[in-house]
Amino acid sequence: MKIKTNIAFFFLTCSVGSFAQNKISPKDTEVWEPVPEIVSVNEKGIPSDAIILLSDKVNEFVNHQGEPIAWTYEDGIMTVAPRKKGEPKNKNVYTKQKFGDCQLHLEFRTPIDNEGVAQRNGNSGVFLQTLYEIQVLNSHKNVTYSNGQLGAIYKQSIPMANPAKPMGEWQTYDIVFTAPVWEGNKVVKKASMTAFINGVLVQNHFELGGPTTFVGKPKYAAKDHGKKPLMLQEHNNYVSYRNIWIREL
Ligand code: MG
Repeated sequence: MKIKTNIAFFFLTCSVGSFAQNKISPKDTEVWEPVPEIVSVNEKGIPSDAIILLSDKVNEFVNHQGEPIAWTYEDGIMTVAPRKKGEPKNKNVYTKQKFGDCQLHLEFRTPIDNEGVAQRNGNSGVFLQTLYEIQVLNSHKNVTYSNGQLGAIYKQSIPMANPAKPMGEWQTYDIVFTAPVWEGNKVVKKASMTAFINGVLVQNHFELGGPTTFVGKPKYAAKDHGKKPLMLQEHNNYVSYRNIWIREL
């Protein structure tokens, strides 16, 4: 017991001794600037510095030509339906504003009366910078390839879990996106994504090999450079969205 006490005393004197000798202080490692900005959150959970993209009063989406969307918009809910005969093939919707690094929140719902299977069941997608898709799909009792199910970074990263709720229920998506960093026409830091579905982590800072593609391997190209609109995909299925907000980082 006495030996133990002596050893403890030895180390205590040593550490106090070197502490005094080097004149270091806990204050040396305190950083006071910059001071983080105050962000308050309202009763709906929306941060005070968020840009509202979709609510019962605001709809910041347009079609690919900057014209009104071919989706319905009622009571704050935007819904895309399968294409009717003669309808244009591109019914994707885009934000008027362009974004780079961001925190994004949205809510989506796949309908109960959706009879398709695999990739034809509530398929849509959240495309950061118009190029990088994280999948929206009914993945409750609907099997498809793992890197194409709900929460997948399409054909690049399988989600870490499947927190999908049954069809007809509202679900949440929270995404942190970091845009690629370019030096001239070369990517020196890849794009990355972190995402939660219904509060469950599905992607943890995954680094993308390039824009998500249906066919072939991903690859960055010079034309991908810079901020671009957020896009929601039309995939010839019913899907609804509500409560979309974004924070620029
Ligand atoms: Mg999709």
